Amino acid sequence: MSAATIAPFRAGEFHLFTARGRDFVYLVPSGGIFELTPAARQILDFAQRTDADSEDLIAHLANVGFAELEIEETVTDLIDAGALLAPGTAPEPRIDPPKNFPLQTLVLNLTNQCNLSCKYCYEYGDDKVATPEGKPKFMDTETSRAAIDFYFAESQGTKALHVTFFGGETLMNFPLLKEVVDYATNKAKSEGRFIDFSLTTNATLLTPAIIDFLAANRIGVTVSIDGPPEMNALRVYQNGRGSYDIIAPKIKLLLEKHKTRPIAARVTLTADVTDVLKIFRHLTQDMGFQEVGFAPVTTSENRLYAIGGSKMDSVLEQFKLLAQEYLDAAVEGRHHAFSNVTDTLSELYNGVNKSHPCGAGLGLAAVGPSGDISPCHRFVDSDTHSLGHISTGIDRAKQDDFLHRGHINQKYDCHTCWARPLCAGGCHHEAYVRYGDTGHPNLHYCDWIRDWTDTCLSVFGAISTHNPVFLEKFEKR
Ligand code: SF4
Ligand code: SF4
Repeated sequence: MSAATIAPFRAGEFHLFTARGRDFVYLVPSGGIFELTPAARQILDFAQRTDADSEDLIAHLANVGFAELEIEETVTDLIDAGALLAPGTAPEPRIDPPKNFPLQTLVLNLTNQCNLSCKYCYEYGDDKVATPEGKPKFMDTETSRAAIDFYFAESQGTKALHVTFFGGETLMNFPLLKEVVDYATNKAKSEGRFIDFSLTTNATLLTPAIIDFLAANRIGVTVSIDGPPEMNALRVYQNGRGSYDIIAPKIKLLLEKHKTRPIAARVTLTADVTDVLKIFRHLTQDMGFQEVGFAPVTTSENRLYAIGGSKMDSVLEQFKLLAQEYLDAAVEGRHHAFSNVTDTLSELYNGVNKSHPCGAGLGLAAVGPSGDISPCHRFVDSDTHSLGHISTGIDRAKQDDFLHRGHINQKYDCHTCWARPLCAGGCHHEAYVRYGDTGHPNLHYCDWIRDWTDTCLSVFGAISTHNPVFLEKFEKR
């Protein structure tokens, strides 16, 4: 055996990580995740560090006790997997979503009005992009039906449909929500399709009758709440009064009576609200939420409530502790409520490799009270970001422009980043608020994103070793 029998190679695009003492590789172009033998780990380490040369490799690995045959076979396996590339191999072409990708999800903003005045709200705060002046404040029946008709027409070929209700405060237009559920359910039945619904609410307007309706119709509910009273302090009425005491008993009732879907809490982290562990314990143990997701506020960094670097580090450390708890639970086959991990595991399991950071403007569209179509709920009522109107359909030129700018190919800073299959540059809305362009990569948090993605990879790797059956629930049906 000599170096000449080892196929020549160079490093492909991959990220090495460990999980409970075992070595894994995440393959960037394919999204594949594999456990590595000790020889494979050494070879990839070597290939990543130097311009690999077969003779050097053999000398290096022979020094640490590997036989040439094992090295040769491992190199061949790594080339087959795409972790190493044979010379002259072109990078895998990026798969673009097909033109006129069918809509998968419709967001209906039933109103742009809200009975709270949360200090960080993207709809009303300093970072708002909406231009609601002169437009209806509440969606009416005719517009909602036209929006549903538009959605059904734009999702041809899709069996499973999903409508999510949003606001303002969604429940300020509950009568219309009921009408839409009725109308869309009947329409789906008549076409032999399946539809489900979800909504986001601040919970202030929940009543026993509304809860009964949501439970009877299996409507998924996400409650915006930031934690115990002292942490929920930015979620206030216009007169400055806090909302926690109003919503706590309503949430209790919701959790008692609505058992047909898991009820989720969505927490916005801000400068003074970064005690992730305390918030998580309160929302799960004291209140009983089955899912809790956290999102740092999306805002310009000069806002008082923006989270600075050291607080983001603290958030990351707490995320890691919860991720460890999640792993312990998953290994025993138990549910854990930290949905930030669940969401990423689902993406890893399905090998996603995103051309765009999210479905906005692609498989997802939002319709506002006026019937304007936007890429997602955060751009509703914004003339600058409108993608058309339900009466005339999607403006393909505007959609193409939005998707072209948001495409990973346009984000040159991301091209050498191993986290891009999952991140793809981050939220379009955040990019607009930070950089004035929806297509700009969110470069202010790259290290944070990579560190968090590495944590989720470790959780994934450990679960795949210790309880792989747990991951099967992420199979996309
Ligand atoms: S925004 Fe940063 S973390 Fe995300 S893909 Fe681009 S370079 Fe990577
Ligand atoms: S653009 Fe941002 S807010 Fe809108 S769906 Fe995408 S990630 Fe969410």
